[in-house]
Amino acid sequence: MRGGAAAAASVGRTLAGMAVSQTRRARASRERKRRMDAAENDLTALEWSEIRAAWGGCAYCGATGSALQKDCVLPLSRGGRYTVENIVPACRSCNASKSNDEVTGWLRRKRLDERAFLLRHRAFLDGRLPARE
Ligand SMILES: [Zn+2]
Repeated sequence: MRGGAAAAASVGRTLAGMAVSQTRRARASRERKRRMDAAENDLTALEWSEIRAAWGGCAYCGATGSALQKDCVLPLSRGGRYTVENIVPACRSCNASKSNDEVTGWLRRKRLDERAFLLRHRAFLDGRLPARE
């Protein structure tokens, strides 16, 4: 009887410990989701389709046909944001390869056309800015 109580108490402590770590994990996960939601809300679905239409393929290697992913030109980890100025379409391969790298250094290492990318990105941003009177 007493042994059973001790075992039950021990199980109780273990469960309490697990509950704490699950709560902490859940809190971290909720916090991450909240940050992502807040950041992502800046880019609308319409803007994303405009971006894809303007580039007509992967912004880095020009690949078409594969599902294009949102890539932050300046990675979130380097202070970039989910905005129309900072998002370009990237094929899965480029997106995975670039990851958190700085864009121009990565383009050079991949022997991709850094200058063409920067010019097209600039043209895209200029083209979508409203005309001033
Ligand atoms: Zn690509």
